[in-house]
Amino acid sequence: MRVGTGYDVHRLVEGRPLILGGVQIPYDKGLSGHSDADVLLHAIMDALLGAVGKGDIGRHFPDRDLQYRGISSLELLERVMEMVRELGFKVVNIDSVVMAEEPKLAPYTDEMVQKIASVLEVSPFAVNIKATTTEGLGCIGRGEGIAAQAAVLVLVR
Ligand code: MG
Repeated sequence: MRVGTGYDVHRLVEGRPLILGGVQIPYDKGLSGHSDADVLLHAIMDALLGAVGKGDIGRHFPDRDLQYRGISSLELLERVMEMVRELGFKVVNIDSVVMAEEPKLAPYTDEMVQKIASVLEVSPFAVNIKATTTEGLGCIGRGEGIAAQAAVLVLVR
C-alpha cells in the first residue's frame, strides 16, 4: 500500500466557468488557469502521482505546453489513472477537502463523487469530498481563490 497527498490553489476571476470535481457550478466567477483550473481534480491528481512516486502534474502536463490549454481536468485525471494502472496499482480510497468561501458546494458533491469514482474505477463509497470555508480568514476567506487538498491510498493489484 502507498499513500499520497495533493494540494492546489487557483485564483477566482470573472469571465471563467467554475468547474470543481468535473462539475460546472453556477457562480459569477471561475478559476483561472491554463487548463480548466479544476483545483479539486488537480489536488487528487497530485495525490495519485505522489502515491505511485511519479512527481506532480506540473511535470506531466506542463502549463507551457499548448496541448493542455483549456483541457478538461477529467481528461488529465484519465491519463494519470492510466499511469497508475500501468504501474500496477489500484485506488483504495480518496479523501479530499475543498476550501471556498462561496459558493455552497454541498448540492454538487454527489455529482463530483460520481464523476471521479467512474474515472478512478472505484465505488462512489471510496471517494469522499468535504467542503469548508475558512471563516472569512485569508485569501480564501476574502473570496480571492479556492483551494483543495486530497489524500489517496493505492494498493498493488
Ligand atoms: Mg492547479
